[in-house]
Amino acid sequence: MVNAQSKYDIQTIRNDFPILGTEVYGKPLVYLDNGATTQKPRQVVEAMVQQYYTANANVHRGVHHLSMIATDMLEQSREAVRRFIDAESVQEIVFTRGTTEAINLVASTFCQQEMQAGDEVIISTMEHHSNIVPWQLQKERKGIVVKVIPMADNGILCMDEYEKLFTSRTKLVSVAHVSNVLGTINPVADIIRIAHSHGVPVLIDGAQSVPHMPVSVRSLDADFYCFSGHKVYGPTGIGVLYGKREWLDRLPPYQGGGEMIGTVSFESTTFNAIPYKFEAGTPNYVDATGLAAALEYVEKIGMNNIAVYEADLTQYALQQMSQIEGIRFFGPMEQRGSVISFLVGNIHHLDMGTLLDRIGIAVRTGHHCAEPLMHRLGIEGTLRASFGLYNTYDEVDALVAGIHRVSQMF
Ligand code: PLP
Repeated sequence: MVNAQSKYDIQTIRNDFPILGTEVYGKPLVYLDNGATTQKPRQVVEAMVQQYYTANANVHRGVHHLSMIATDMLEQSREAVRRFIDAESVQEIVFTRGTTEAINLVASTFCQQEMQAGDEVIISTMEHHSNIVPWQLQKERKGIVVKVIPMADNGILCMDEYEKLFTSRTKLVSVAHVSNVLGTINPVADIIRIAHSHGVPVLIDGAQSVPHMPVSVRSLDADFYCFSGHKVYGPTGIGVLYGKREWLDRLPPYQGGGEMIGTVSFESTTFNAIPYKFEAGTPNYVDATGLAAALEYVEKIGMNNIAVYEADLTQYALQQMSQIEGIRFFGPMEQRGSVISFLVGNIHHLDMGTLLDRIGIAVRTGHHCAEPLMHRLGIEGTLRASFGLYNTYDEVDALVAGIHRVSQMF
């Protein structure tokens, strides 16, 4: 703990995030809802403001100076993403609205082209709704079958059972890298290797991994990988779908419109090359600039340093919280990310969350968009504290003191 803390200049980092110095109900804000969204450093906001003030024009469409600058900036942002997730080519980086849109893009285009009624997709027990519902929509539309990897009581996927789910009809596996509820870090390299041994491609939902650990899509050999900008200290409304070139070339367009075309007549249309084939309409180019600034920001701190710091902070939090009477944790104690889901005695999660809020502590309550997981755990919801790169040991202490205080009121 001391090592990670001393290498890590937490105060300088916190100074980059103006919101962390604010108060709620007259109490200093303790923001522990980073799994939902992260706060933004000045560097991100300023990069976007700068572009609006000095380099705003529609991209790819103009011969004029500003349009060329804006186009260059968009393509530099694509390169920043490529570097960050270690993709081979910028052609493999599609900008989307976020993880949800990326998964919908794959579900829709992959099912349209690669799946017939009765073909199967494998997901897991701990998926976010955004990696469940798009497949169910395809179940309704196309008659595909959705199979689910079971989970043990300790929040770990049953890998033996996973292997048994493959049949000659299995066409795709789609799982989260890190659970947004349990914090479980899934063995995605093994999940991918096993799927590939059956000739099946894999989509990884990286919404909760990319902000917290180094990710190399090439080392993982992922076929598709997606994440959201707003969870990695970037702006809302932008995210990324990585797809291996051969898959993106093969899949049909998702939406039709400007930018994604080659030529158009009233009779027919040819499509642009990847990644533009999947980016219909004016892209969210200013948010792409913000996302690139965010990725540069975390790269400067170092993804390994962030991972070590957050792991130590989470271990400290688990230790301190485990002394609270009646506390129940959900998820593994090791091999975990910086998300802690818990309940205390029979205090309703909403009551506890509301009272913590009154003392300035922002945590999430409810089913966390993972209702099937709640059913598996036999609960309605949990409290969830999720840490980011700027959270401190003092904030963990404030959370623990807050839970004690609220518990005594019941
Ligand atoms: N997948 C996981 C694991 C998540 O935690 C979330 C958001 O909480 C999503 C997908 C959806 O992300 P977004 O709402 O940014 O599209």
